Amino acid sequence: MSQQLQRAVITGGAGFLGSHLCDRFLAEGWEVVCMDNLITGDLRNIEHLSGNPRFHFFHQDVTEFIHVPGSVDAVLHFASPASPLDYLELPIQTLKVGALGTHKALGLAREKGARFLLASTSECYGDPLVHPQREDYWGNVNPVGPRGVYDEAKRFAEAMTMAYHRYHKLRTRIVRIFNTYGPRMRLNDGRALPAFMSQALRGEPITVFGDGSQTRSFCYVDDLVEGIYRLLHSDEAYPVNIGNPNEMTIKEFAERITRLVGSNSSIIYQELPVDDPKQRRPDISKAKRLLGWEPRFDLDTGLARTLSYFRERLDAPLRGPRV
Ligand code: NAD
Repeated sequence: MSQQLQRAVITGGAGFLGSHLCDRFLAEGWEVVCMDNLITGDLRNIEHLSGNPRFHFFHQDVTEFIHVPGSVDAVLHFASPASPLDYLELPIQTLKVGALGTHKALGLAREKGARFLLASTSECYGDPLVHPQREDYWGNVNPVGPRGVYDEAKRFAEAMTMAYHRYHKLRTRIVRIFNTYGPRMRLNDGRALPAFMSQALRGEPITVFGDGSQTRSFCYVDDLVEGIYRLLHSDEAYPVNIGNPNEMTIKEFAERITRLVGSNSSIIYQELPVDDPKQRRPDISKAKRLLGWEPRFDLDTGLARTLSYFRERLDAPLRGPRV
């Protein structure tokens, strides 16, 4: 670990992952500026931080000019719709935040001489032809399919980040995040875990896309946050996968959740969305080697923690505020 950093700007800080990052940086003694336009985020994710004098919330669209008074040591760019339902509903905003938002966030880091960390995604690998996915695989993405708005926005964001690194000598980091779950996911965001858990809790049938044989690998949020914290402090400018290599089929995942909830929901099958990846598993040897990182939470522990959050939230309003 190199120098001690003090003040972080976290874009998308009122979202699922961003709010956990705010918690972690505050716990490490940092001051945190959380910047979010609440398009898919939720103020309830950060309301517990409102009395903290080291926490500041800026209600701001990061595709517009960003001004932050004072010094900044790190900019973590997490703003972006992230669930397929969200980015299919918000295609232009998704492209804008990946392109213009990344440019503005990089500009802020450059102005302040701060480190920059981009939240990229395993979606950069598209429907992968190489398995498991290593960082040097360039991916199999359909740019003109419906998912292209997200995948290509992130691929552009990575290219822009590397350009700032090479041309402006900015200290940049890129994390390729694989499916992550945990408390503060929105119940109705369309991702597999919230969908399965809320259906099981309500005793409704579990909707699985396709025949459920497509695979995913699910990482608990605390493990992801630890990997990101270590990556920020490292010297690696090229992308690093952070995810849990424990791969399973979506059908197995649905059954695991149903058992955990103690529900007798049946599984119903729906048409597979266009360009849905058939398999997904991170090769995490780079993160192990460079960061000494690997996931610590097993699926049962992570799911149990998430389930207690979902039980509490089930009766609360489903959507966060939208502006
Ligand atoms: P999320 O939707 O909960 O959080 C995204 C946040 O960004 C929201 O609070 C939203 O309001 C905010 N935002 C969006 N556009 C904005 C804009 N123009 N200006 C300011 N704020 C804006 O999603 P998440 O799961 O927490 O994802 C966070 C980041 O991590 C995203 O960049 C996503 O692509 C990446 N990621 C997440 C996963 C995952 O499994 N959760 C996997 C891969 C990558």
